[in-house]
Amino acid sequence: MAIVVLGGAGYIGSHAVDQLIEKGYDVAVVDNLLTGHKEAIHEKARFYQGDIQDKDFLTNVFKQEEVEGVLHFAASSLVGESVEQPLKYFRNNVYGTQVLLEVMAEYQVRNIVFSSTAATYGEPKEVPIKETTETAPKNPYGESKLIMEKMMKWCDQAYGMRYVALRYFNVAGAKLDSTIGEDHTPETHLVPLILQTALGQRKALTIFGDDYATSDGTCVRDYVHVVDLIQAHILALEYLKNGGKSDVFNLGSSEGFSVKEMIESAREITGKEIPAIMGPRRSGDPAILIASPEKAKTILGWNPHYTTIRKMIETAWSWHQSHPNGYGKS
Ligand code: UDP
Repeated sequence: MAIVVLGGAGYIGSHAVDQLIEKGYDVAVVDNLLTGHKEAIHEKARFYQGDIQDKDFLTNVFKQEEVEGVLHFAASSLVGESVEQPLKYFRNNVYGTQVLLEVMAEYQVRNIVFSSTAATYGEPKEVPIKETTETAPKNPYGESKLIMEKMMKWCDQAYGMRYVALRYFNVAGAKLDSTIGEDHTPETHLVPLILQTALGQRKALTIFGDDYATSDGTCVRDYVHVVDLIQAHILALEYLKNGGKSDVFNLGSSEGFSVKEMIESAREITGKEIPAIMGPRRSGDPAILIASPEKAKTILGWNPHYTTIRKMIETAWSWHQSHPNGYGKS
């Protein structure tokens, strides 16, 4: 019986494949390699290159594999881009999930763990954000993920297809041995941009706005180490296999750090200057996103280990230093 990991060549997906294999699971990876990297895929995973929107391709994967569960990471995930190109997000994320759910229904695959996002909450009505906090996405990325969650809810009702949607806050860090890590082209995420600046690959980092209603005026985010994030996915898979009901969980730390605090920590850890200049706000960005992770801890038994910003930046820094140009180019 196999676990199919959609998007298993990406940053988060590749860490999932790695941990699943370490835990003894049989894993098949599906990825179109548009943003993922072949080198990131664990050598013990079977790899199918193709797009989840291609139903013939995906059907063929489910025909070949005896699928017991799906981890779904295959999506476009950039807030700024989604505001510029909303239809790309509805096609890749919503339509891609439509095809996936059709194939899962045909093959009677009943368990899916799904990467959702804090962006489903929009500008949150309460802090820390609970799963019961009202959802009101501020950008097409968050909207697309909320639609995907709702599609799964109705598929559960109709076909008994159970899901766990994990609403991530900000993911950072890399596997502790630095063999896999974050490599996007173009890079848009804060931590890798800070570290590329520390490496001298960028002259300066731009801070997107310092006129938010936060302690230092820059946006506040809740960061989770990728290794801890994946631990929650495996617990969610086991929860579903043990008959758990469909549900939604936040994955965060209940602590927020501003953009300026992140840069300051990285300066201390790397010993580099890391020049930063002030720029305008990025559209679609809420001021503060901080999670209450209590539900994941109580129901899934989630027990994150690498909870300090230091650990996240240190492991990301080791990855960037050992792979200054990402995969296959170090
Ligand atoms: N950010 C920034 N400069 C950058 C990239 C990001 O100031 O070059 C800010 C961004 O506005 C947000 C935070 O850093 O407040 C985290 O952004 P990221 O894109 O890493 O993750 P997101 O919050 O969009 O999931």
